[in-house]
Amino acid sequence: MKPTMEKIVSLCKRRGFIFPGSELYGGLASTWDYGPLGVELKRHVKAAWWMSLVYERPDIEGLDAAILMHPQTWQASGHIKSFFDLLVDCKNCKKRFKLEDLTEAGAKKMEQVKCPDCGGSSFTQERAFNLMFKTFLGAVEDSSSQVYLRPETAQGIFVNFSNVLNTRHKKLPLGIAQIGKAFRNEVTTGNFTFRSREFEQMELEYFVHPDQAPKWYKYWVKERLDWYIRLGINPKNLRVREHKKDELAHYAKACSDIEYNFPFGWSELEGIANRADFDLVQHAQSSGKDLSYFDEDSKTKIIPYIIEPSGGVDRAMLAFLIDAYREEEVRERKRVVLGLDKLLAPIKIAVLPLLKNRLDVVRLAQDLTQQLREQRAGSLGKVVYDDTAAIGRLYRRQDEVGTLYCVTVDVQSLEDKKVTVRHRDTMLQERISVDKLREYLLEKLK
Ligand code: ATP
Repeated sequence: MKPTMEKIVSLCKRRGFIFPGSELYGGLASTWDYGPLGVELKRHVKAAWWMSLVYERPDIEGLDAAILMHPQTWQASGHIKSFFDLLVDCKNCKKRFKLEDLTEAGAKKMEQVKCPDCGGSSFTQERAFNLMFKTFLGAVEDSSSQVYLRPETAQGIFVNFSNVLNTRHKKLPLGIAQIGKAFRNEVTTGNFTFRSREFEQMELEYFVHPDQAPKWYKYWVKERLDWYIRLGINPKNLRVREHKKDELAHYAKACSDIEYNFPFGWSELEGIANRADFDLVQHAQSSGKDLSYFDEDSKTKIIPYIIEPSGGVDRAMLAFLIDAYREEEVRERKRVVLGLDKLLAPIKIAVLPLLKNRLDVVRLAQDLTQQLREQRAGSLGKVVYDDTAAIGRLYRRQDEVGTLYCVTVDVQSLEDKKVTVRHRDTMLQERISVDKLREYLLEKLK
């Protein structure tokens, strides 16, 4: 059964995955701080994405472009002109709303709308509100120094297309992948980290020959859907929603959303678009630089088409958390388990002494933990040690955060130099020699 959002939010807070941003000062609306376990899970989500695209394929290169970009970027991309929400204010209670929310994306006329807050039916004229955050470069705050925090990472890739193509001696199809922060001054935020104003994106811009764009578009929709499934999301909770013609951005030839069945309903995890040659044409015109590609086969210059799978790190992480959460009955006691994939689990190994009052057992467990932490011998990620409760409690604590293996040290271990390894999902226990332990765990984590 799907957990409620309350359960997920509470687990995240209680176990150090996600805290409200600036909580000490009463919080700052819709900002979130990732705690010790959250940062691990988030890093693992990003690493799994990077691995599947940049490391496991010959056709994709990585990039890490600056967040602050030349203001002309946003002129050329169309963000200054058209990256806005339409807002109206209720004349009675003065509350501000997104027009789209009130009219349920055009399904209702404004005359039919009542204010969700006070029930009033009189609203101001709609006004455009640009979603980009503005700031200033350098010490002078005038219009010539005004820049924006990027609302998407994609533009950093488009403006570096030639740099990557030429320095890496690549041919089409060529992908450029980037992970980084993006900022949108969203009018309505909510559903925990699902919609915030500062978030992270994982974007791939895949440059292809125009003739091959439809084929690659289909390919990436399937490939990206499979990525979520390979990492453990139940396929029943995923669906692809193809945009209708009237929903498409003016430059897009096709677009599909991968949606997840969140507790608050089906919502977008990632969008895959065929952006045609829009971006390169715009930046070539705006910069006066040639962004074409010389096609060896036809001996002509072409402007590549771009297929863009664009996903949110925070949304992916939230979906992985929700999908992994389960409550079970074990020997008449409730067990909460985060059944996260082994690539994603924030902590892979926890070392626990069976008896916290036996100094020699504790010492052995602590020494073993420190040995397992040695990264160059083959990384087991962050190895934790806990002796602050009885063993049953310690196991439950680890299950609840998805720890894959608990290594328990007992009195017997002092003699036979063996420890008990308990598996998260099956709860099966095996006795393993201390000198074979790392090898054993590394094998399991493969
Ligand atoms: P939505 O329709 O939900 O506003 P979008 O279509 O505007 O999303 P894109 O511009 O396609 O989103 O951005 C790509 C991805 O970035 C989204 O699929 C989502 O995962 C993530 N994303 C976009 N806006 C936010 C946000 N405000 N908070 C968290 N993630 C976001």
